[in-house]
Amino acid sequence: MIRQGRIGEFELIRCLRRATAIPHGVQASVLAGIGDDAAILKPRPGRVILATTDLLAERVHFDLAFTSYRQLGYKAAMANLSDIAAMGGVPRFLLIALALTSRETSRDVEAMYEGIRAACNPAGVAVVGGDMSASRTDLFLAVMVLGDAARRGALRRSGARAGDRLYVTGTLGDAQAGLELLQARKRTNSYLITRHLMPTARLKEAQHLADGRLASAAIDVSDGLAGDIRHICEESGVGCLIDARKLPLSPQLRTHARARKRDPIAYALSGGEDYELLFTVPPAKVARVEALIRRRLLRATPIGLITPRRQGLRLIGIDGSVRPLTAKGYEHRLG
Ligand SMILES: [Mg+2]
Repeated sequence: MIRQGRIGEFELIRCLRRATAIPHGVQASVLAGIGDDAAILKPRPGRVILATTDLLAERVHFDLAFTSYRQLGYKAAMANLSDIAAMGGVPRFLLIALALTSRETSRDVEAMYEGIRAACNPAGVAVVGGDMSASRTDLFLAVMVLGDAARRGALRRSGARAGDRLYVTGTLGDAQAGLELLQARKRTNSYLITRHLMPTARLKEAQHLADGRLASAAIDVSDGLAGDIRHICEESGVGCLIDARKLPLSPQLRTHARARKRDPIAYALSGGEDYELLFTVPPAKVARVEALIRRRLLRATPIGLITPRRQGLRLIGIDGSVRPLTAKGYEHRLG
């Protein structure tokens, strides 16, 4: 599985060995990991397999001027874990392919693997395969994660119905604000910067939702709330009404937006890469979700309603007026 590139073969194997120490919880499921032509993995009985992959390209998805190799590995892994969370699943195995330029040293590769391991270990995810090749220009990382879910327990984008309540975990817009600080070379707010460079997949929250069959649909917020809710609405054939006054915003984001004379709501609507979970809850399950929130087992906020499709995607603004939901439109209205 591993081709030898510019990095020495022994160094590479050392990197991989360290990165691929299999966490205890998943050991019995890895019959063969790195070292053969393919990994041999044992599915858990009664579960379906979830598979997701993400390709990250230098200068498109990340900037090495302000991202360390460790952070890059961490984020690449976490983005994939977040997709499994969005399906209500448990991530189990990760494979990583790298295309390295002449700039990357064996230390850099090791740092990338360390970042991957830091994301995977707490989640009980085993790194079971990889490949490396040379790239003439930019660095590329392709991560694949396999997870599993109860046979009919996976959360789809297509399950939302009119009358369902809409919730989101955590806070929105932080990662976009962190990226702006990094691009401006201002390391003034470590919370926002960490939210951009080292996001957290909402795996525990996903598990609560999946175990209790509490959500009718879910997606992770990778492109911004206004864009991602559109996927749920299209797949489910519904509309939505989001209340801007209820969007969860961190105090750090409010401060950042104020300093830039921008509305924090615009960050929440269009800011990408927060990796929070956006999910819908049928009326009969709302009390159970609210109980989880009260007991602090689920950190989530109700932000609106699913409506019939003909009503479209709408937003209640801060002033209480209802308008079409578009991230851009909101920004313009605020001038
Ligand atoms: Mg996603």
